[in-house]
Amino acid sequence: MRKIAIVGAGQSGLQLALSLLDRDYEVTLATNRDAQQIRTGKVMSSQCMFNASLQIERDLGLNWWDASCPPVEGIGFAVPHPDLPGRKIIDWSARLTRPAQSVDQRVKMSAWLEAVVQRGADVRICDVGVPEMEELARSHDLVLLAAGKGEIVNLLGRNAERSPFDKPQRALALTYVKGMTPSAPYSRVRFNLIPGVGEYFAFPALTTNGPCEIMVFEGIPGGRLDCWAGVKTPEQHLETGLAFLRQYLPWEAERCANVELTDPNGVLSGRFAPTVRNPYFRLPSGKTVFGMADAIVVNDPITGQGSNNAAKCTKVYLDAILERNSAAFSEDWMQQTFDRYWSYAKEVVKWTNSLLTPPPPHILELLGAAGQFPSLASTIANGFDDPRTFSPWWFDPTSCMALIDEHAARAA
Ligand SMILES: Cc1cc2nc3c(=O)[nH]c(=O)nc-3n(C[C@H](O)[C@H](O)[C@H](O)COP(=O)(O)OP(=O)(O)OC[C@H]3O[C@@H](n4cnc5c(N)ncnc54)[C@H](O)[C@@H]3O)c2cc1C
Repeated sequence: MRKIAIVGAGQSGLQLALSLLDRDYEVTLATNRDAQQIRTGKVMSSQCMFNASLQIERDLGLNWWDASCPPVEGIGFAVPHPDLPGRKIIDWSARLTRPAQSVDQRVKMSAWLEAVVQRGADVRICDVGVPEMEELARSHDLVLLAAGKGEIVNLLGRNAERSPFDKPQRALALTYVKGMTPSAPYSRVRFNLIPGVGEYFAFPALTTNGPCEIMVFEGIPGGRLDCWAGVKTPEQHLETGLAFLRQYLPWEAERCANVELTDPNGVLSGRFAPTVRNPYFRLPSGKTVFGMADAIVVNDPITGQGSNNAAKCTKVYLDAILERNSAAFSEDWMQQTFDRYWSYAKEVVKWTNSLLTPPPPHILELLGAAGQFPSLASTIANGFDDPRTFSPWWFDPTSCMALIDEHAARAA
């Protein structure tokens, strides 16, 4: 049987390991934290996954939290009024056709990693560098680098042409809380855009001690929401977020009157530049390592696509590995496999990057019109499941106006 080595135990590495073990491949998984360290460590993501990605997990029998994870049933969008404090100039929401779901990666990755051990993989807990990859490459048919945002992925090299930003575009923060007032009449990602300042969104999730809400802050660097540097304790982190909401988004602050942290590790802050890397690189020995998911295409979390991309990338890679039968995993095969994924991912990158720069007039018009025309709001909300559907109208003012007219006619 073919021997596959995977570096990294995140959404992509574990999903692939479990899928290959199911098909009797010999799998080695090298990662730098064991299940217990993941479970008791800090939160890593807000990991909201939409239906197509959840369907991939369902098809693989990996949907272990459907009964315990609160569903995310819709997406809402609001912009504060520039002149009337406490009022909104845009405010709409729409139901998702099928719910989304966010299972804290501490819960999911620790359980999946334990299953990988139980199902017979060779699991090695170590910080992987070049010597470890050389060893894996000597003894395996294929080495996959699924190390997310780990330093090691820089070995793949940045693709400057596909990476318009060379610096972080947002200061990021996560706060996992209990006690937030639920959204009625349906749960949703409540997305708020504060022009010139950043974005805030919140939605229900499942964490290590049951259901919770995740607050995500995206601050434009140097602005009012780039405010996490001096924060020393989890309590200060929570208070910093709440103070921001009280000032800019009072309707969100109101929902937080009784919130408390899920646990002292339920906070995170940091920043990274959205980057597309080369699909593979050669080790000093000349052997090739193939990158996957965030290691090769990492987006800002503003559109909540990273875990979705990881699930979709892994599906493409799994199919390509299975189709390969006993032929060598050549660099040509790696390039073709990456290209299959990139034909999807490039649309996600384009759309996500477009949200990191000030919205052009046609997007402001579109987002405003969605408040008048529910079918347009639904089109935008359901696009999160497959961002290819945003082309061409998200990017082209003429198509955008035609789309608005079409939905206006439908509503008339
Ligand atoms: C603030 C924030 C919010 C987010 N919100 C969302 C969201 O709502 N929806 C969404 O879809 N995505 C979201 N994401 C993105 C999502 O979490 C990632 O895209 C996804 O986890 C990527 O999966 P991956 O398998 O590529 O990498 P990861 O899940 O990051 O896994 C990488 C693995 O590699 C290991 N590793 C790293 N370096 C080494 C090394 N040298 N040796 C051994 N092991 C190593 C790590 O420990 C980890 O196990 C968010 C991300 C952030 C930062």
